[in-house]
Amino acid sequence: MEIKALVFDLEGTLYNSRELANEWRVQVFKLLKEKTGRSEEDILKEFLKITEELRGQGFRRPPVSMIVEKVGITREEFYKAIDSVDAKKFLKPDPELKQALEHMKKRWKLAMLTNLSRKSTLNIIEALGLEPEIFNPLITASEMEKGKPDPEPFKKIIEDLDLEPSSILMVGDSVSSDLAPAKKLGMKTALVSEKESSPLADIKVKNIVELKEILENK
Ligand SMILES: [Mg+2]
Repeated sequence: MEIKALVFDLEGTLYNSRELANEWRVQVFKLLKEKTGRSEEDILKEFLKITEELRGQGFRRPPVSMIVEKVGITREEFYKAIDSVDAKKFLKPDPELKQALEHMKKRWKLAMLTNLSRKSTLNIIEALGLEPEIFNPLITASEMEKGKPDPEPFKKIIEDLDLEPSSILMVGDSVSSDLAPAKKLGMKTALVSEKESSPLADIKVKNIVELKEILENK
């Protein structure tokens, strides 16, 4: 079936920043230290242990949001910690990305589905030099009971778009969090990755500019 809408993940898909992710980790460690009185070394050990466990469950790069839930930080606390980080210190406007998205917007509906809070999402979108209005609907963790890879947010976005799942392309960098649940609900999938590939990906691209070119020539 013809593609009518593209749903984008944010982190790792529209941008990559180790520095920003590290700053989130710093804030989460600070919060954990305050909350539990444990040493940084202790916290780091537990983080690594949980990361390994999640890798064992098929999450190649487990997101911080997933790890914190297992160390006793609530979602609200986590988002409060990362919302305090100024994304502009770590991200620059990306005119190529902006141009590619604006181009695609002429032909397809564009939407976003992210496990970040609304505040952090809007900060990041702005830091990248994009207009949040380009994504409609824009669903963040602030509007969800459960984040990806739970099917709930995917069902919500399918309903909001009011389209057949098979006419919606989920674009993400995580096979386990973005592609697998989308595929299960009948959506099409595009993996954004430099190296990784997956049998769950209908399309494999290195970045959004390449996605634009492939979709336009289909
Ligand atoms: Mg991602």
